[in-house]
Amino acid sequence: MQIHLKTLGCRLNEAELETWSREFAALGHRITGNLIDADLVVINSCAVTGEAVRKSRKLMRKAHRSNPRAKLVVSGCFASLNPDETADTLGVDLVVENGEKDRLVEITSKKLELHTMPALATLPGQSSLLATGRQRAFVKVQDGCRYQCTFCIVTQARGEERSRGIGEIIEEINHLHSQGINEVALTGVHLGGYGSDCNSDIGHLIRSVLAETDIPRLRLGAIEPWDLPPDFWDLFTDSHLMPHLHLPLQSGSDTVLRRMARRCKTTEFQGIVEQARDRVPDFNLTTDVIVGFPGETEDEWQQTLAFVEQIGFGHLHIFAFSPRPGTRAATLPYPVPRELIRERSQALHALGQRLKRDTLSRYLGRSMKILVEDRPSTGNSWNGYTPNFLRVALGDTGSENLTNRILGIRLTGLSPEDDQLIGEIEQT
Ligand code: SF4
Repeated sequence: MQIHLKTLGCRLNEAELETWSREFAALGHRITGNLIDADLVVINSCAVTGEAVRKSRKLMRKAHRSNPRAKLVVSGCFASLNPDETADTLGVDLVVENGEKDRLVEITSKKLELHTMPALATLPGQSSLLATGRQRAFVKVQDGCRYQCTFCIVTQARGEERSRGIGEIIEEINHLHSQGINEVALTGVHLGGYGSDCNSDIGHLIRSVLAETDIPRLRLGAIEPWDLPPDFWDLFTDSHLMPHLHLPLQSGSDTVLRRMARRCKTTEFQGIVEQARDRVPDFNLTTDVIVGFPGETEDEWQQTLAFVEQIGFGHLHIFAFSPRPGTRAATLPYPVPRELIRERSQALHALGQRLKRDTLSRYLGRSMKILVEDRPSTGNSWNGYTPNFLRVALGDTGSENLTNRILGIRLTGLSPEDDQLIGEIEQT
């Protein structure tokens, strides 16, 4: 069968899609990038914001309208929070909720009576990921979360914490590396909660991956600023572990953090950052901030701006507060007017751009290694990321295909938009 897979939302959804793609290919099915050619369409939906819900509904409708002949399977957070609505959506043949999504390929094969053709199975060495122009693989190591941040619907959609076995994870990473992948990112809903259900922790996992795989570049997906093991920063002495963390702050005001039921005050966050910068050379910190949380006063907002400036993040992901039905925050009083949320988001965006330019400027004249990822459709300028996740554009390098190469480069300038560095190849 020709199978088309589509995901919305987080890195974890992407990691699940990559796993399903490999599993379907191992059964002899072909993965197609074209919805129209597919016999089966699989959607991994999202519900993290109102916008994500709107997109999930739209994607299901579009899949059936564009290819009514194909079977349609829907999984993910939207489908898990709204199983009946999803099942009643025109064209949907099967709903696989989050609790069962690790067995999606098996359940789909059985319920939709898919014929397997092992003879056509993808041969080892043919990376479906590289074939789709991706050089970084997301590896799911954990699911679910025991916490209840008041704005978060994910903890409801994904349930209790559960960890994959270290052996299974190492086998997957070695398999990806054997297929030519040079970089993997470990992802989870609450990455810091890895091992809470099996007497292990994220430190043990990282140490095992570094010891038992030869993957050149190991990254960590977003990780909450708590539940970090005491020896966490020692792990970064291994140059295969990339010195970048995405550490969601959400607000720079302790009173807002309390209303969010976050488990990290600004002083604790500051402490984590100081440790990281003391112990890890070139450590780069990026984050998430929610703008317009219910009751956010002008004073609380100014605290957030000041704290973000004080930390000096390398990049900000900015989210306008989106009340999720079923969360405590959705019923909190004093909603912030949309217009004010827009104003505050613009101010934070401008601050984020300045902090990013300051971060990038600190690396001018330095030599670093990048993994070359992509090249815009027009022109010969390749792009890639440094170990600490700074984006670099290489000037015109001629026609040689540099995809997936790890190159030594010299950082010579900033792009006109100040959003990435310019580099020249030093060694290949
Ligand atoms: S820790 Fe993260 S996943 Fe868990 S409830 Fe809070 S925001 Fe959601």
